Amino acid sequence: MKIDIVTIFPDFFRGPLEHGIIRRAREAGLATIEVHDLRAFAHDRHKTVDDRPFGGGAGMVLKPEPIFECIEAMGVASREERRNAGQSVILLSAQGKRFDQSVANELAALERIVLICGRYEGVDERVGQYLADRELSIGDYVLSGGELGAAVIVDCITRLIPGAVGNQASTQQESFTTFSQGQAGDGPSSTCSSGGLLDYPHYTRPADFRGMGVPEVLASGNHEEIRRWRRRSALEKTLRNRPDLLESVVLSEEDKKLLGNSD
Ligand code: SAH
Repeated sequence: MKIDIVTIFPDFFRGPLEHGIIRRAREAGLATIEVHDLRAFAHDRHKTVDDRPFGGGAGMVLKPEPIFECIEAMGVASREERRNAGQSVILLSAQGKRFDQSVANELAALERIVLICGRYEGVDERVGQYLADRELSIGDYVLSGGELGAAVIVDCITRLIPGAVGNQASTQQESFTTFSQGQAGDGPSSTCSSGGLLDYPHYTRPADFRGMGVPEVLASGNHEEIRRWRRRSALEKTLRNRPDLLESVVLSEEDKKLLGNSD
């Protein structure tokens, strides 16, 4: 997969792209990530990429010309051909559709994505209207730039590329993730996929840490009981922290029983 990032702060990505799974995926050739300096496409002496807003108001706006030129120079497919080419040009924006795990899955299946990072008061609207295929927001808050959002998206989708995470079953059994049965079936029988809920709690050694114990069932060796305990815990945690998620999943009869017996 090819990922291009357009930014006025290319050095910002030094940290996020050089650790852990992203670094390994790059080294293994699973992901090619290129960071483009928007200022290289500004033609005046001061490398100006921003200007005052039409209509007045506070702050500056990123100009359209350098962004259009930068994308054109990358050899990205035309807007009409992008879907067929498996490409998507994405503008990071607080006004975009919310980025979530299902959007991440969709993007991870593409050949190439381009992430445009805004700054200041934002980006000239024509970039979203005529150049980008979609606007994405990473959450309902305002950041000072799109770079952190781009880093979040790159992190999230890179780990979904087959081969990027050592044990692929682990990316299929996580919070927010829905996979049809069988697809997630290569984990041990004591695990359970979240089915769109939150993940179940994990513990590791020591079994007794400063008097804080580990649920006994996990050491029982009874796979079926462990699976049930994990499912119940996932359901309880979802109910406690993210009840909204329960509205969009279909609970099995077993789930309903586990939730009913949770107190
Ligand atoms: N005036 C804009 C905010 C601009 S913040 C508004 O009120 O909506 C500057 C840049 O930061 C944006 O152009 C965008 O690229 C990025 N940004 C801010 N919040 C974001 C979010 N929640 N998700 C993704 N990008 C965001």
